[in-house]
Amino acid sequence: MQIRSLIFSALLLIPELSLPQNIKVLVYEGRATGITGDISITQDNTGEFTLKKNGKIYNSRDGICYHTAEFPVKINSGIYTGTLLFSAQANVFRIINILDFEDYVSGVTACEISHTWPEEAIKAQALVARTYSWLKYQQNLKNQYHIKADDTDQVFRGSANLPGNIINFTRATAGKIICCRGKPVEAFFHSCCGGVTEEPENVWGGKKEQYPYLKKKTCSYCANSPVFAWKTAIALTELNAKFSSLSAELGGITGIRPLERSSSGRYAKILVLGKKGSREMQANFFRMSLGAKNLPSLFFSASSRGKTIVFSGKGYGHGIGLCQWGAHELAKRGWNYTGIIRFYFSGITIESVPKP
Ligand SMILES: [Zn+2]
Repeated sequence: MQIRSLIFSALLLIPELSLPQNIKVLVYEGRATGITGDISITQDNTGEFTLKKNGKIYNSRDGICYHTAEFPVKINSGIYTGTLLFSAQANVFRIINILDFEDYVSGVTACEISHTWPEEAIKAQALVARTYSWLKYQQNLKNQYHIKADDTDQVFRGSANLPGNIINFTRATAGKIICCRGKPVEAFFHSCCGGVTEEPENVWGGKKEQYPYLKKKTCSYCANSPVFAWKTAIALTELNAKFSSLSAELGGITGIRPLERSSSGRYAKILVLGKKGSREMQANFFRMSLGAKNLPSLFFSASSRGKTIVFSGKGYGHGIGLCQWGAHELAKRGWNYTGIIRFYFSGITIESVPKP
């Protein structure tokens, strides 16, 4: 049995892949005045800047300043270890945290899932976070940073002071990534699918063949989630303000109508109605323009009530890949993390990838 499992492990090692030692994460981009915490920045008219931390002064050279954090550094809502790279271009500051890849995966896992959740759900999240990070690292090898620390990519607020179980459960999956046909997958995840997951081309476009591992899946496991069913109202005045140029073109937006639903039941396209006509719009563009939190998912029905549109819907997020609330329930029912991942990602293997 031991020999068999040894052979099995050896077969799963992919020699041409390796995980990076470090990753570069964009943790801040904006004006110097938006930086709070242990650091303050002042800039002169040549573009060079001065960084003050605990009474010490660091001057930039060629618009860049490195700081190796001997202890955690608080910046806005994050507490960072590793190295911080500050750069200034015109009036835009970037702060990039360069840190150990696995420490980063732990930091993401701590932000993207609660430490109070079951062990196997946390491990599933860690596996998804590592796989997503690895792919982004590869895609942005030549760029100033590999990945962003907000929900454009994955939320990350540093790797200091993480809950012990998050670190331990993430480490228990260290070096493992999700692959399909020998290549790492785009490991998407979302909070709650609302009963059925979605296929990426229905939300973002592109070709179905690009994601053979992201198939629509009926998921009854997230039904107890607090975000499984929701209702929200958006005022027409808000809609007209958010889509001001379209509003002008249509002589004022008066409502929306479904145009096309995907096979999962989510809106794919909508018709925006106005006094002088109507305009077709991608449903995901509609949701993102309103703000993802204002319209929790595309799994909704809409009705006009006076000067508002009432949305009744299910789930939270795009619905693609791992359903976190589904993983929570599956873990409670005794599934292990590899089983959970195999449920949400079709035809995949979980590979062990060494560090260089
Ligand atoms: Zn679900």
